[in-house]
Amino acid sequence: MQAFLNALTNLLDHHAVLTDTVDTASYLQESRNLYKSTALAVVLPASTAEVAATVKLCIEHNIGIVPQGGNTGRVGGASVDESSARHLNGQVVLNLQRLNKVLAVDPLNFTMNVQAGCVLANIQQAAADSDRLFPLRLGAEGSCQIGGNLASNAGGTNALRYGSARDLVLGLEVVTADGEIWNGMNRLRKNNAGYPLRELFLGSEGTLGIITAAVLKLFPAPSGSATAMVGLDSPSYALAVLAEIRSRCGDNLTACEIICRRGIEFACQHIERCREPFETPQEWYVLLELDGPQSSEALQQQLTEALAYCGDQNLLNEAVLAGSETQRAALWALREGVVEAQRFEGASIKHDISLPLTSIANFIALALPAVEERMPGVRPCPFGHLGDGNLHFNLSQPVDMNSDEFLDHWQEFNQLIHNLVARFDGSFAAEHGIGRLKRDELMLRSSPVSLAMMRNLKQALDPRGLLNPGKVLPPTPPQSQH
Ligand SMILES: Cc1cc2nc3c(=O)[nH]c(=O)nc-3n(C[C@H](O)[C@H](O)[C@H](O)COP(=O)(O)OP(=O)(O)OC[C@H]3O[C@@H](n4cnc5c(N)ncnc54)[C@H](O)[C@@H]3O)c2cc1C
Repeated sequence: MQAFLNALTNLLDHHAVLTDTVDTASYLQESRNLYKSTALAVVLPASTAEVAATVKLCIEHNIGIVPQGGNTGRVGGASVDESSARHLNGQVVLNLQRLNKVLAVDPLNFTMNVQAGCVLANIQQAAADSDRLFPLRLGAEGSCQIGGNLASNAGGTNALRYGSARDLVLGLEVVTADGEIWNGMNRLRKNNAGYPLRELFLGSEGTLGIITAAVLKLFPAPSGSATAMVGLDSPSYALAVLAEIRSRCGDNLTACEIICRRGIEFACQHIERCREPFETPQEWYVLLELDGPQSSEALQQQLTEALAYCGDQNLLNEAVLAGSETQRAALWALREGVVEAQRFEGASIKHDISLPLTSIANFIALALPAVEERMPGVRPCPFGHLGDGNLHFNLSQPVDMNSDEFLDHWQEFNQLIHNLVARFDGSFAAEHGIGRLKRDELMLRSSPVSLAMMRNLKQALDPRGLLNPGKVLPPTPPQSQH
């Protein structure tokens, strides 16, 4: 492979081809530590043309390419799966971090053109600097890249109001598996000229093309906001409160997050900035946020009245409204703290699932006793984006169990939870995607018609099987090229 590496180094700056294990370590270790990766090199191209040239060189040498953004994904999608690449002479990780420019902000058109390696938080800031909002918001926003967000169709906390990443993009530039540059940087809201090619790359996790730039939708920057935490007895009350607030506040409601009692306990125990918000601990907590063109005072008034109505209807036990930015941050810290705190409680088995809102309470009512019966002492910790039906139904290990022994039950619990999800017409893959982690599950749970269409797409767009081998779909032997 030395010939390939030499050619790569000639093509790009030698700083752009990392082979030393110290330099490559952070790119090859994935965020959940589930998969170990090795690669011939980590490649850091600085332009779309360099991405395209790298792909062409990889075609010549039959090398697989793993596109990578901030490497914060939760399903192993940006890691190297060697077992799926027997048809190849090796793989490289191609990280987009050097394509990190905001190319243009057009406040009148409510759009922003960005390169794919821009960190999400920088995009949010660039929009705010032009008095606009880019509403995608998630815990990893300080390190994930917009290319990764689009490739994984990220969800996050504002999906209730603004949709997932797919809904926030008008155009894309993509380097195809043939090493060609597709300029689909459409800035139009209406454009029905042919098949919507853009859609193929959104959520396809780097298996159909490499996103190098995007046209993003912007929204009016909110003038004010209001945030509250409520305490209540059960998920059905949480859903009743959500329905009431949504009816009364309309699209001002941007976030509605649910956290179980155990999640709050974990956060308060392990994360310095987290404090129990109520004198009497509650079974369930719901974080609500409004924003919009009104002032914060007006939105707080709107939320207070809506919550008072819910209180009168006995839907909730407690409510606290943030009176300052510090208090708002303290409420959000609890939600973010749940994610961080779980690792202090040993191993956890996670489920990123999606359900129709009408079924969430029944699902939780069945799932909690089912997992406790399967393994006495297991500590379920459900939380998530209630507003759009996305639950993280996570299970922490029993206190006195060995972590590896607990993780041996991963498949068994997945099957239990995902079967239950299927009974309620839900999805076993809500916002994190398929990657490596859920590939077999996708094979099991998709209809033959869906699988055939997905395979045909992959075959049509990447016939050599070079792009992100082994992610989403298992590898199929490449067809000969004529
Ligand atoms: C603390 C924390 C909180 C999180 N919260 C959320 C959340 O609320 N909602 C949510 O949806 N996710 C969440 N995530 C998961 C993760 O941040 C998102 O999936 C994010 O979109 C991944 O972006 P990334 O740049 O890190 O992509 P990576 O992890 O680098 O890659 C993700 C996938 O996209 C592909 N890819 C990356 N860049 C490109 C590109 N330019 N072109 C083609 N393919 C590409 C990769 O091959 C891989 O398959 C969270 C993660 C953490 C660590």
